[in-house]
Amino acid sequence: MLSASDYQYLYQITAKSTPLTEDCGLLCGKTCCRPGKNNELGMYLFPGEEVMFTRQEDWLFWEEQDPAEQQFPASWPNPVFFVRCNGHCPREARPLACRFFPLTPHLQLNGELLMIYETLDLPYRCPLITQSKPLHQGFTRVATAAWKIMLKDHRIYELVEEDSRYREENNLPVQVVLG
Ligand code: SF4
Ligand code: SF4
Repeated sequence: MLSASDYQYLYQITAKSTPLTEDCGLLCGKTCCRPGKNNELGMYLFPGEEVMFTRQEDWLFWEEQDPAEQQFPASWPNPVFFVRCNGHCPREARPLACRFFPLTPHLQLNGELLMIYETLDLPYRCPLITQSKPLHQGFTRVATAAWKIMLKDHRIYELVEEDSRYREENNLPVQVVLG
């Protein structure tokens, strides 16, 4: 299972990586950082990632949710943390989910890890995904290295495995960015 020092390392290696050399937020008005009309948009933390926060951050709102209700694997601890930001985080403190977007991991049946464009049904359009924009090589390299570490945690592996099979069963696009 990932430890606090693993998370510190993951935050360190992903601290400066960005999908493009230039600011991709200029393409879309930072649409993925908008909290939504009713402040409903957010992201889940990975198991144990909460150690990276004091829970006093004034830009972050916390919800504790039941992992079974949210269809996480049975191995996930209860509660899972769903966090919503106000759209203005200190960049060095952003959660891991923000650091990988628009990439997501996909596990082939033989266990091979691919990095693909996110296939979640999002309430906004990310031009990097819709236009299949080539991403900065350093970004995909760092994301791959981080996911190789994260997949050593069986709980995270199970989530990625389930998501990967779901994609295949539902014919969602497995568009490889770096294999
Ligand atoms: S929606 Fe896509 S292009 Fe826009 S800021 Fe987010 S990652 Fe960048
Ligand atoms: S935490 Fe930061 S990077 Fe993540 S959605 Fe909020 S403003 Fe954007």
